[in-house]
Amino acid sequence: MLQRDWRLLNFDTVDAIPAALARGRANAVARALAQADWLLRRKTDGRYLAAVRLGVSARWQLLAPANAWPRDAACGTRGQRAQTGVDALQRRLRELAARPASHATLPLDGVRRHLDALGISADYGRRHALDLVPEPRVLAFAGFDRYRRPLFLQAAAAAAWSRMRAAAAADGVRLEAISGFRSHAYQAGIFARKRARGQGVEEILQVNAAPGYSEHHGGCALDVGTPGEPAAQESFEKTAAFAWLKMRAGDFGFVLSYPRGNPHGIVYEPWHWCWRAC
Ligand SMILES: [Zn+2]
Repeated sequence: MLQRDWRLLNFDTVDAIPAALARGRANAVARALAQADWLLRRKTDGRYLAAVRLGVSARWQLLAPANAWPRDAACGTRGQRAQTGVDALQRRLRELAARPASHATLPLDGVRRHLDALGISADYGRRHALDLVPEPRVLAFAGFDRYRRPLFLQAAAAAAWSRMRAAAAADGVRLEAISGFRSHAYQAGIFARKRARGQGVEEILQVNAAPGYSEHHGGCALDVGTPGEPAAQESFEKTAAFAWLKMRAGDFGFVLSYPRGNPHGIVYEPWHWCWRAC
């Protein structure tokens, strides 16, 4: 697969990324990835489900036990679920080959399930002046983040981020991505993990947007950091990176989404920038 074709293919409960972008800590997983074209992951937490090799007939290696597969991905054994995932992947690739510039988004019904499950009321969006943000069906590889995880954004936002990072570097400023696209399911997974540690939904909402309402779902928002500075802290505003962004980010189409006193009631986030032409 050519690097320019590295994309995240986004489905309801699973996604697929090029296997070449994923790391396997265990030797067996690393070997499976080395022989595969695609990796199917669970969206709530990115857990590896299957390494898939396409070809005349697709083959795959299962990387997770049956109970790790999302319950609503499909019924049946994990082999049958993998088959369903691989079929969806092949369909999406055919669709992309026919219409490469598709900007379609996934339906929003899944997010309503997440909100109901968390007991978040229907007027959350109105109270915070936020709209539900649909997820793109396809995202582009935008380099690696600070943690060497592959970063995905909408293609045009990825290109703008790459240009902005290069321009900053030319001025002696290092910008690092902390986080880009995040799915509704992943956001719901953050809530599930925090609740398992004893936090209440209201408490989590002080820090995290409700699933469906984060700008990160749209593939145009990016949390930015700089080496030596902790991720997503207000102290980022004191860095040379932030001073540079304030001066130059607008030239690349990036806007600070949550300044102090923003109308959404979201805490000041000097690290969170969104490419507005999306
Ligand atoms: Zn953010």
